[in-house]
Amino acid sequence: MTSKSSDPHFSSSNVDPAELAKFSDLAHRWWDTESEFRPLHQINPLRLNWIQTLVPLSGKKVVDIGCGGGILSDAMARQGAQVLGIDLAVKSLKVAQLHALEAGTQGVQYQEISAESLASQRAGQFDVVTCMEMLEHVPHPAAVVKACAQLVKPGGWVFFSTLNRSPKSFLFAIVGAEYVLNLLPRGTHEYGRLIKPSELADWVRDGGLELAQMKGMTYNPFTRVYAMNSDTDVNYLMATQKPMSS
Ligand code: SAH
Repeated sequence: MTSKSSDPHFSSSNVDPAELAKFSDLAHRWWDTESEFRPLHQINPLRLNWIQTLVPLSGKKVVDIGCGGGILSDAMARQGAQVLGIDLAVKSLKVAQLHALEAGTQGVQYQEISAESLASQRAGQFDVVTCMEMLEHVPHPAAVVKACAQLVKPGGWVFFSTLNRSPKSFLFAIVGAEYVLNLLPRGTHEYGRLIKPSELADWVRDGGLELAQMKGMTYNPFTRVYAMNSDTDVNYLMATQKPMSS
């Protein structure tokens, strides 16, 4: 793992230390499937399958931006991808690395570096970029989207997922998930930081990516089951592609 102190390109401008601290404080629970991270464990097979319907991951070079404890990075490596997971919360990265060791996952590495810094070092080197449930935690999400667009090869894929800023999402993702069902710690998501699909689509286009597919994700509190569908009012995902020549 590279330390940010030894990374001359480290930029702290697009980071909210309070956001990183929220995740660091819980880092030891990343792989506890009944913890605060239960929702991420539950949606993981759904998002992984969706990615694979668009781009089979075996043999692909992937970078997972804001990888946390490596829930998605690890799963993609298990599909045969060569995965680099990056985050700025060092505790989470340590947990991710330890999990890979314990589980014997091959083909996954973790590094403490920002998306923007990695883009300045390794532009156009990845077949697939994933940036899941992260954009709503950074001060300037458009800059992260741009970095993702720089990291991917022409013809490659970039996947995003985040939370919509809608009345329904205030009710379900914040009041429901954090205050009623206690699925997530209170304060996990700040309403003003949530992102409308139209805003994300604009940043995607500004970064030179093309929107290929959009999906929604819903949670049924009675069955406690997540489903992927076309309801983008709360959780949604975007698959985008960099044109072969631009
Ligand atoms: N992508 C993972 C984890 C999502 S939780 C998954 O879907 O399973 C959000 C993650 O974003 C946390 O690990 C947090 O540390 C990270 N994060 C927040 N701000 C960041 C930043 N500026 N740069 C990189 N990672 C960041």
